[in-house]
Amino acid sequence: MKALTVVRTVADLRRAIAEHRSTGRTIGMVPTMGALHEGHISLVKGALERGDVPVASIFVNPTQFAPNEDFAAYPRDEDSDFTQLGAAGCRIAYAPGVEEMYPGPQLTTVTVASLTDHLCGPFRPGHFQGVATVVCKLLMMAVPDRGYFGEKDYQQLQVLKRMARDLNMPVQIVGMPTIREPDGLAMSSRNRYLAPAVRKTALALYQQLNAIADAVRDGRTACPPVAERAAQALLKSGFDKVDYLAVVDAESLAPLDKVSGAARVAGAAWLGRTRLIDNIAV
Ligand code: AMP
Repeated sequence: MKALTVVRTVADLRRAIAEHRSTGRTIGMVPTMGALHEGHISLVKGALERGDVPVASIFVNPTQFAPNEDFAAYPRDEDSDFTQLGAAGCRIAYAPGVEEMYPGPQLTTVTVASLTDHLCGPFRPGHFQGVATVVCKLLMMAVPDRGYFGEKDYQQLQVLKRMARDLNMPVQIVGMPTIREPDGLAMSSRNRYLAPAVRKTALALYQQLNAIADAVRDGRTACPPVAERAAQALLKSGFDKVDYLAVVDAESLAPLDKVSGAARVAGAAWLGRTRLIDNIAV
């Protein structure tokens, strides 16, 4: 197994990448916020499968958390992250501090309109601007051939694809399937917050997404009432609050009354102070 190089500055990142490029290799970037699990590692493997030298970044980005969100409490475990990345065949880990990412006031942001109007957008004001801006910065720092992102965060994936297209970035955004626990719960760094007693309840989100998809797949059934009933069922099964359950167009993310063409069922709901999101194809 070839060693993982850890770098913490843009200059060192560019030097390390240039070395690989000088041997004719292509670069695949995997941006993360750390607390890595098999979902993240699948992105590294995706890069390897396409022949890219995998470069992962680990940065808990303050600008994508609202003041009332879990930035300070977000799980951090660098040693475990580096061990997992090395074992998976990742070659460079970029783990900058906040000062390296945001040295002084930043006057420039990236906003992707329309795709952020629904789903998580209204519930997390400023979140997607924070995500698009930091991913834009990471992609400009590394200038990889491809960037790998999980369908777990489907709205984020669509936003980033659109950003890369609209801004003519020389980077292909690759979406990768959601990795799940054996029972179906989507892997997430935030699952660590779940006490064993509520861990079973968490699965209900995925179950309700499947129930909605099954009910509306025929294209004749109106989606909103089905989603409303699923939200009630989610609360009954022990969730504390449902931000949304919705059937949306897979590309525009506009809410659908009835399914026609590619659609996605997405949901966000709270178990205590933990917000879980998930989505599936219809
Ligand atoms: P995060 O560390 O949560 O910002 O996630 C970093 C990247 O990993 C994003 O592209 C996520 O969509 C992706 N990711 C997170 N969880 C999963 C999962 N269960 N399966 C696949 N990709 C994931």
